[in-house]
Amino acid sequence: MDSGFKCGWCADEIPEDAELLGIPAKARADIDITEMEGQVIDVFLTLRERNVQALVVAKDSPAKREGNDLLFVACSESCAEALKQAVGREIELD
Ligand SMILES: [Zn+2]
Repeated sequence: MDSGFKCGWCADEIPEDAELLGIPAKARADIDITEMEGQVIDVFLTLRERNVQALVVAKDSPAKREGNDLLFVACSESCAEALKQAVGREIELD
């Protein structure tokens, strides 16, 4: 069984029993994602010329209360680190 999540970096299916590594991020103000809560969206990174997948956090979620809009999901520490570095340049990260 997989968890239904794919790694935002390498696109591997993440097994259900694996620990999800979430990287919270703020969306830029010019991206309207209010209609997409709870969905996985593709975020295009212009500098990298590739898409990464991100989960749009729900209004009542803890991540949102901390001021984040997106959660990038990674399958491993190395993917999490790669995502952080790639995304951090284009989207404001904590
Ligand atoms: Zn990965």
